[in-house]
Amino acid sequence: MGVRSGHCLCGAVTVRGDVSDTAQACHCQQCQRWTGGGPLFAVRVHDLELTGEDAIHAYDHSNWGRRAVCGTCGSTLYWKLQTGPVAFVALGLLDDQSGITIAEEIFIDSRPDWFPPFAGAIQRTEAEMKAQLAAFLEKETGHDHV
Ligand SMILES: [Zn+2]
Ligand SMILES: [Zn+2]
Repeated sequence: MGVRSGHCLCGAVTVRGDVSDTAQACHCQQCQRWTGGGPLFAVRVHDLELTGEDAIHAYDHSNWGRRAVCGTCGSTLYWKLQTGPVAFVALGLLDDQSGITIAEEIFIDSRPDWFPPFAGAIQRTEAEMKAQLAAFLEKETGHDHV
């Protein structure tokens, strides 16, 4: 963990917060389309601070998640749980990615053949992720959102 900052391609949106050193690769088909190919590489950020809110275009992509892009340059910004403070920021926004490793790959059922797994990274299927998310949401909110 450590405070890191970053920004979108055009600079309209900045991000800052306490960033985990272990990042995640999401291979779900939504993320593949969202990022233009390959997984979404993202890190969990605690106490996420954003500037340029006017430029942020956020939309709900499921019953539980919200994705955001910069409305000016189109950069992938973050996804968040609609309830609670959990936020993952796209790794590519960060000014400094030193010391960060890909520790977990999720929705591996949808990983394309041309993208090899990261050595040592935890591998989770869609079913495993949905079960984990359901348990997490249950704990955070007391509701079942999945
Ligand atoms: Zn931008
Ligand atoms: Zn995904």
